[in-house]
Amino acid sequence: MTSLGDALSNTVARCGSATAILYDGTEHSFRDLGARAAAIACGLTERGLRVGDRVAVGLRNSPELVAAVVGVLHAGGVLVPLNPAYTEDELLYVLADSGARMALLEREHAAMVATARLPGLSLLGTSVDGCGDISRPSAPVDPAAPALVVYTSGTTGRPKGAVLAHHALLSNLTTVARAWRWTDQDRLLLTLPCFHLHGLGLGILTSWLVGSSVILRPRFVAEDVCADLARLRATMFFGVPTMYNRLLALPEAATTAHDLRHMRLWVSGSAPLPAATVERFRERFGTELHDRYGMTECGFVLATSLSGPRRAGTVGVPLPGIEVRLVDPAAADGGRLIDVPDDSDGEIAIHGPNLFSGYWNRPEDTRRAFLDGYLRSGDLARREADGLFRIIGRISVDIIKTRGFKVSAVEIEDCLQRHPAVQEVAVVGVPDADQGERVVAAITPAAGSDSTADAIRAYARQHLAPHKVPSRIVFLDDIPRIGPGKFKKKELVRLLTADVERT
Ligand code: AMP
Repeated sequence: MTSLGDALSNTVARCGSATAILYDGTEHSFRDLGARAAAIACGLTERGLRVGDRVAVGLRNSPELVAAVVGVLHAGGVLVPLNPAYTEDELLYVLADSGARMALLEREHAAMVATARLPGLSLLGTSVDGCGDISRPSAPVDPAAPALVVYTSGTTGRPKGAVLAHHALLSNLTTVARAWRWTDQDRLLLTLPCFHLHGLGLGILTSWLVGSSVILRPRFVAEDVCADLARLRATMFFGVPTMYNRLLALPEAATTAHDLRHMRLWVSGSAPLPAATVERFRERFGTELHDRYGMTECGFVLATSLSGPRRAGTVGVPLPGIEVRLVDPAAADGGRLIDVPDDSDGEIAIHGPNLFSGYWNRPEDTRRAFLDGYLRSGDLARREADGLFRIIGRISVDIIKTRGFKVSAVEIEDCLQRHPAVQEVAVVGVPDADQGERVVAAITPAAGSDSTADAIRAYARQHLAPHKVPSRIVFLDDIPRIGPGKFKKKELVRLLTADVERT
């Protein structure tokens, strides 16, 4: 068992001259990027980084981001990926909560942090230089120690840092690579953001571990995808369902005009993939769209098999070495794991070497996340007669999945509640063909206020990253409620869905 830093250095020794990243027309070999990463590792150490210190990295998709990720891990630091679109509130919260000692940030974020002067944090700009050598062993790290702290939304207020150990990530990423027959001949077109485990773990880290190439793009642009895949001879594309819906919404000629014969694997993940999308994809591209299910807290868990049985609307079977049980959620609330019969809905409970170590500095949340060593996912699923799993949905209405991002209704409510025009607010996810769910806020206005929906959305934009800002604000004098401050959110979703269908 090694650390991620060692495993990443091994790839440089094995595949040095191969292309690690193709970005903006320039090929960066493992050797070149490895040298950048080693310089960063050395720069961090010279500035006082000790093994186990958190280093926040909030860079946009770029070779610099990849070098920073590898460099932090090589130095024995714990990487805290940050969304470069965080507002000041969100950024300062994650930096303070994670106790980051150093931060590599885009200029706008660096300016915010410089003004706030967080004690104990060194701000390093977008890069840092030193004189390292990637072929030297990385800082000695216990494989059970944290490698990443990834902030993720839960049912309670602010995001929590999920701690992923070196061995958990190495085990999970190599398991996925094996299941998908991923080799150093693969070329992945990566348009996902790399602060989430989907883009960072699967896209960047697994590619580097395998020694395959990443064609990295700053962002997803549906119109460019097929041309890029064809021109750059990509073999794999990973996306969230919204991306596939947007590809399928393009005129047929925009997708069929390109030679995609090199493509061997298209995978969707991070949010429910409608059966209709799988069927339309098969019709349009003449190949299968695979699905995989996972969570920040446990990496990648279920996946449709490359050769085994599969059916649109199901998410496949557990990856090797990972145990998935479907348990009665009410019994689990009472402290007992009781399996539900096949063909009935149960909460996904996960056990295996892939599990996270807990939430950073939150022993109570960590205790609640596990039961008898199983991670409680909060998702309902059913195991069908042939063993394939079908995801039914979240147990809590307070978790919204929009465009593949997990957001907490409570975090958005806490923000909007501070606006003077808001007396009461309930935030829900309303089903949406493109985004999976859309964030909608129902607001009872404060007496005498004449604030508009636009003004409240503008306020939300100052405090919340763009994917959390409600796409719609509906003023309701009476939000359906169970009691004071407790809303009937399922009824509200039905009301707002019917309202959207009427308009
Ligand atoms: P995150 O931690 O942001 O990756 O979000 C994890 C959550 O996304 C899970 O608990 C599910 O609710 C949802 N999710 C992930 N993958 C899938 C999938 N393939 N189908 C349905 N929901 C998914």
